[in-house]
Amino acid sequence: MLIAQQEMLDWRGTGMSVMEMSHRGPEYTSIAEQAEADLRDLMGISDDYAVLFLQGGASSQFSMIPMNLLHGHTHADYLNTGAWSEKAIAEASRYTKVNVVVDAKPSHYRTIPDKAEWQLSDNPAYVHYTPNETIHGLEFAEIPEVGDATLVADMSSTILSRPCDVNRFGLIYAGAQKNIGPAGLCIVIVRKDLMGKTLPGTPVMFDYKIHADNGSMYNTPATYSWYLAGLVFQWLKQQGGLQGMAEINQRKAAKLYAAIDGSDFYANPVDVRYRSWMNIPFTLANSDLDKQFLADAAKEGLLTLKGHRDLGGMRASIYNAMPEAGVDKLIWFMSEFERRFG
Ligand code: PLP
Repeated sequence: MLIAQQEMLDWRGTGMSVMEMSHRGPEYTSIAEQAEADLRDLMGISDDYAVLFLQGGASSQFSMIPMNLLHGHTHADYLNTGAWSEKAIAEASRYTKVNVVVDAKPSHYRTIPDKAEWQLSDNPAYVHYTPNETIHGLEFAEIPEVGDATLVADMSSTILSRPCDVNRFGLIYAGAQKNIGPAGLCIVIVRKDLMGKTLPGTPVMFDYKIHADNGSMYNTPATYSWYLAGLVFQWLKQQGGLQGMAEINQRKAAKLYAAIDGSDFYANPVDVRYRSWMNIPFTLANSDLDKQFLADAAKEGLLTLKGHRDLGGMRASIYNAMPEAGVDKLIWFMSEFERRFG
């Protein structure tokens, strides 16, 4: 992000910061278009899809999806694999009947019941799932097979971590703050034929078609976050694109799980078939040591390891921006801590 610092007060000799540009001026338009082109390139997004740079976070999508995609259907299918699925289900239930296809809650979100147990319904408006559950570290290894149904995915904590066959989806959405860039931006990739059929009373700001027809500039977009996301897309291309990122991410996750599994002092409760590459929760054999672990880790520059308040313990979120050396240092620290207190 050195380039963002260099350009901070003077973008390419214009004498303007990106922050003070008019979002409709030629300078900013070129930034916005380049970012979209780079994202399309990275993910292989065809012209059948609109790419929207919205605000309101992924949480707004929990409402926008039913408002835009119900299309007169009586119900929608949702897979419940964690806290974010639960929130999406609760919100969708305000607009339609929700059929829960599969419920991972009885396992405390540590595994996903086998496909044979799934109850996909007839003719749902769409099937919604959360490929990676950020809090529980539970991740689908493959895209679920849903026949002809429109598949919708909350990719907030896994987008851009590996290649993704966009054509399998009707809609993909992701809050930016994990693998895309700063908070304030939410990216929606939506098949064009799905737009323009909103529920009566849908607010104009919640209508995908309005945003698509206006190049995501119906109102003032999150210009600086969009610009920084564009720089991240360029950086990803330099890393070998999503294939390159996948190799790095898989390696990072594999070594951290190996360190946890190889010790009696640390444990990760998730079924090995569904372990996340991005979010790795783990516990210490003695939770009285949690505070000490966090304090000593912080002294080594290892920060934000505290587990989510719902789960306790620790969580290593090793998104694209976490270098492999950071994971190596965490593994080293964990083994030192175990040596001292194990
Ligand atoms: N969905 C997932 C999978 C998330 O991880 C998060 C946030 O962490 C959200 C949704 C909510 O995102 P936002 O805070 O952008 O509304």
